[in-house]
Amino acid sequence: MSARIVVIGSVNTDLVIRGPRIPSPGETVSGGSFLRAQGGKGANQAVAAARAGADVIFVARIGDDELGEAAIASLVDECVDVVHITRDRDQPTGVALIMVDKAGENAISVAPGANARLSVDNVEAARTAIETADVLLMQLETPIPAVERAAAIASAAGTKVILNPAPARLLGVSLLSDVDVLTPNEGESSFLTGEVEPGAAAARLRDSGVKTVVVTLGPRGALVHSGEGELSVAGFPVTATDSTAAGDAFNGFLAVSLAEGLDLTQAVPRACAAGALATTVPGARPSLPFRESVDDLWGSIDRE
Ligand code: ADP
Repeated sequence: MSARIVVIGSVNTDLVIRGPRIPSPGETVSGGSFLRAQGGKGANQAVAAARAGADVIFVARIGDDELGEAAIASLVDECVDVVHITRDRDQPTGVALIMVDKAGENAISVAPGANARLSVDNVEAARTAIETADVLLMQLETPIPAVERAAAIASAAGTKVILNPAPARLLGVSLLSDVDVLTPNEGESSFLTGEVEPGAAAARLRDSGVKTVVVTLGPRGALVHSGEGELSVAGFPVTATDSTAAGDAFNGFLAVSLAEGLDLTQAVPRACAAGALATTVPGARPSLPFRESVDDLWGSIDRE
């Protein structure tokens, strides 16, 4: 039987203009090219977990609009179960307006829209799915009360909880004590703790009640801090061209690997392989790798 994953999180449509430069306030800059792409950390992680081979149920909120329908269609294409995606009648689907200049610098404005109304009731409607899942995977682009309720339901039912604290926000102790694996990147781990050094940050987070902390370190891989001590996992050497969605690939594959019963010493390297592959392809969705290519790269290292 496939691993059962519930993902709770955001859906965004990325509207991207690559232009000669980023306009100053009041200025119009012409001559750019336009691209529309599916995004949102929640939706990206749901797709990553589906590409890792799991049965994925995605709990989210979109607008009752064309962008929302397009987002659902793309998730259905990826075999993600969309039954628990609610259409909000008053708020539009989340949008990120992204401007990129010639040098690759960007300026981003996000309107969370319906994402900001993902509610405790939406989570309660998915209670049975959460209780019967192997792993619940969440991020912080949706309101904290819903995240807290979902973590409490999962924790009481014995469903493993993975929280990717991105974008970083301060978190209560009761939420942290319901989290089995917290997966900040370096910036998020220092925001959450005030510690610059990842090992010290991870130790602090464990003191707050999180069982395992995995700090992702970009090309340097990841640092695992659990009851069994500290483990450094090396990054995979790849030719990175665009790190967008590396963290989403990492979290999706970590969730599925833990759901399949791998321990952290196996699951984290496999997730690192997924993150590394995501950096070799531009964009978010197109860069999320499939199980076979991840396992080829993962298998290329000594798994002892
Ligand atoms: P985020 O995208 O959330 O900021 P990271 O940049 O730490 O997170 O990337 C997540 C994971 O993806 C890392 O732990 C690492 O395994 C992999 N990764 C990211 N960038 C690279 C890179 N340049 N080379 C190899 N692996 C990478």
